[in-house]
Amino acid sequence: MQTVTIPFIKGDGVGPEVTSAMQQVLDAAVAKAYSDKKIDWLEVPAGGSAFEKYGSYMPDQTVEAFKKYGIGIKGPLMTPVGGGIRSLNVYLRQTLDLFVCLRPVRWFKGVESPVKHPENVDMVIFRENTEDIYAGIEWESGSPEAQKFCKFLQDEMGVTKVRFPETSAFGVKPVSKEGSERLIRAAIQYALDHNRPSVTLVHKGNIMKFTEGGFKKWGYELAEREFGDALASGRLVIKDCICDAFLQNALLKPEDYSVVATLNLNGDYISDQLAAQVGGIGIAPGANINYATGRAIFEATHGIAPDIAGKDIVNPCSNILSGVMMLEHLGWNEAASLIYAALERSFSEGFATADLARFMPEGKSLSTTEFTKHLISIL
Ligand code: NAD
Repeated sequence: MQTVTIPFIKGDGVGPEVTSAMQQVLDAAVAKAYSDKKIDWLEVPAGGSAFEKYGSYMPDQTVEAFKKYGIGIKGPLMTPVGGGIRSLNVYLRQTLDLFVCLRPVRWFKGVESPVKHPENVDMVIFRENTEDIYAGIEWESGSPEAQKFCKFLQDEMGVTKVRFPETSAFGVKPVSKEGSERLIRAAIQYALDHNRPSVTLVHKGNIMKFTEGGFKKWGYELAEREFGDALASGRLVIKDCICDAFLQNALLKPEDYSVVATLNLNGDYISDQLAAQVGGIGIAPGANINYATGRAIFEATHGIAPDIAGKDIVNPCSNILSGVMMLEHLGWNEAASLIYAALERSFSEGFATADLARFMPEGKSLSTTEFTKHLISIL
């Protein structure tokens, strides 16, 4: 029997409900697909419940478990108030150097979408996770640090373009060659491994020439240097698109795009727009991965939804689909396919939790528990 230990964080708010649903569905699919494979779930503490028990929102043992087992899955976590950690998710990504935020976006038959042809959206977003204006290097307007930084810009760097120096807040946007290259390399390798036709570098290099423009330039150079054969044979196309145009094109001709590699902030906007296009903002899965070390944490992309916590109505699909990504990461593709098929059948027959079912013409609302049982009965 091949047993894989998976550390998991239940999460706050609706976290325990979506985690339980995800575990039941994954266990059922693995049991159906294989007689010799099994998941050994290892709960690790994080978030509000960990703070009550251990006095820490992210105890060391949790980070150590993710390091030891190299893989894990988490429900949504509350954002700590004080305590030095801005966001537990960002903390985990930075501590484990999970530089890719991976978001596959596809449509499930039966799910209502605001666009005419959601079936044309089938993209995989590689969002850089550790750099850009999201690095958290910023100073508040009026603070001594902001004033010092402004003085440095003016006196030592000869900057004259700060329009209102007295009241400006400042943020720094680091974008490195190494950081861009490892993200783009992972995206290209993914495209080749999954028989996808293109990788599009999305950037605002027309305005931010050295940061976003650097990302584009380094991307093309890396593709030519490391994947020249695949490009020359026509097996893979590398192209680029300016981010604002990309957001339009993604609505108008989404079939032109397959794998997308982009910087942190662009990736944040793009992921949510595309998820909305397939009607799935509440069911979009995600993962944070370091393709060099192989470490990966899979996660529901929604928050802790405190307004519906404990009511047995939360949609567990975001967490279930994150679990499916984890199965694919393990190479357990047969179990993953079974879950995709079960979700497709359930949605196409109108069975879903209320948030989705209410928009379906023949929708039948199920509680979280009923929906989970329904998926297992299909499996
Ligand atoms: P949210 O995603 O928790 O909720 C937004 C709205 O969507 C709410 O009305 C909620 O009921 C609904 N919703 C969310 N997920 C749903 C689901 N699976 N099924 C049905 N309805 C769902 O976002 P928010 O209100 O902005 O954030 C609440 C808290 O969650 C904050 O503390 C925030 O920091 C945290 N958060 C955590 C993560 C994470 O851990 N990945 C992500 C986003 C927000």
